[in-house]
Amino acid sequence: MSGRFLKLDPRNFETEESPYGEEMEMFRNSVRAFFDREVEPRYRDFEVSGTDRAIWKKAAEYGILGATIPEAYGGPGANRFSIMVAAEELGYAPSGATAGSFIGTDICTNFLVDFGTEAQRRKYFPLILSGDCIQAMGMTEAESGSDAFAARTTAVRDGDEWVINGSKIYISNGSKADLVYVLCKTAPELKAKGLSMIIVEKGTPGFTQRRMITQGYKGGDTGELFLDDVRVPLSNLVGPENGAASMFVPNMALDRLQIVARSIGAAQRAFELTLEHCQNRRLFGQRLIDFQNTRFVLAQMETEIRVGRAFYNSLLRKVANDTITDAESSMAKIWLTELEFRTLDNCVQLWGGQAWMDDHPISRMFTAARVQRIFAGATELMKDVLGRRYLK
Ligand SMILES: Cc1cc2nc3c(=O)[nH]c(=O)nc-3n(C[C@H](O)[C@H](O)[C@H](O)COP(=O)(O)OP(=O)(O)OC[C@H]3O[C@@H](n4cnc5c(N)ncnc54)[C@H](O)[C@@H]3O)c2cc1C
Repeated sequence: MSGRFLKLDPRNFETEESPYGEEMEMFRNSVRAFFDREVEPRYRDFEVSGTDRAIWKKAAEYGILGATIPEAYGGPGANRFSIMVAAEELGYAPSGATAGSFIGTDICTNFLVDFGTEAQRRKYFPLILSGDCIQAMGMTEAESGSDAFAARTTAVRDGDEWVINGSKIYISNGSKADLVYVLCKTAPELKAKGLSMIIVEKGTPGFTQRRMITQGYKGGDTGELFLDDVRVPLSNLVGPENGAASMFVPNMALDRLQIVARSIGAAQRAFELTLEHCQNRRLFGQRLIDFQNTRFVLAQMETEIRVGRAFYNSLLRKVANDTITDAESSMAKIWLTELEFRTLDNCVQLWGGQAWMDDHPISRMFTAARVQRIFAGATELMKDVLGRRYLK
């Protein structure tokens, strides 16, 4: 028993059978190669002006974009695990902490896969696959974040057009997006049931996009959007009119799980980098790893990551069977994003001053870990939703 225990390589958590399957492990190799070869060498450039079109085109060459687009439309037709695999690798790559959420756009692609019209699919799928169409999801507004369905942006019919007025904030890929799925109030009297999702394209008169300066994700694109009498055809509606809330709900569980996957990837990489550092760093005439405290901290980290991964893997089976519940994805988001932050905090401590330097991988990953507990449902919101079940 103890022999088997010792063989468990702390640097390789992937020795166990992949929960994603063989095809997805090949996809993972492509995403990892993309980050190692294309993003890591350029992350400092991105800090100046954000990710550029060239890197999106590169992502397309590696087959990373539009993975869920069905084969009938020229896509790979991969299952939705591709979203989680890409997110895990985004977390695993220290440059992912700089680049932000930039390749995780298949959550948006799914709106068209699930609800798009034939014309929308024919128009956008080829552009998504080639890296010529950056997508963004515009829900959040300055006055409606956690309560996103309280959005104030309106869309009013005028002849064969929608006229949209309002604004959106903190939108991933927002300043560069070519296509934004804008959550609009189309029947204010119906409240959350009166929301629709309408496509707005870059360059539409009255539509302006601004890049925001952020604490982490310094090379990423978090944007603010302004819609001032923006006119788009009625055919830009995605899914049923007043049906946005029911379209968002199934995607939200997936969105939460991609955040969770990112947490696992980041925690694992931070652990690996820190273990290696502790084995090499010398102080007081010995290695950092020779202090019992260091080994205890690392052992706790490794244990927590493995337990977290086991929970995550159990949920993947439910995703595959379409039986995952909102409560389960919320629990995973609460637990794993906090695990990531705890892990990174401990890693910073073990690296010492180096990890306080801006260009250190652990420093960048630490900052990126912080936002994971806020977006796609803040920890408190998840706990609130979970806790309300006890009142029934
Ligand atoms: C980097 C980044 C990328 C983002 N990308 C997108 C995107 O692509 N598209 C998009 O639409 N939005 C995006 N967002 C917005 C994100 O979803 C919101 O920031 C999030 O929903 C929280 O909303 P808020 O910031 O307005 O905070 P608020 O809603 O004001 O919440 C503030 C705090 O209140 C507390 N709180 C919230 N709800 C409860 C509750 N029920 N009980 C008790 N306490 C509670 C929590 O501590 C929470 O952090 C992004 C945000 C960031 C930072």
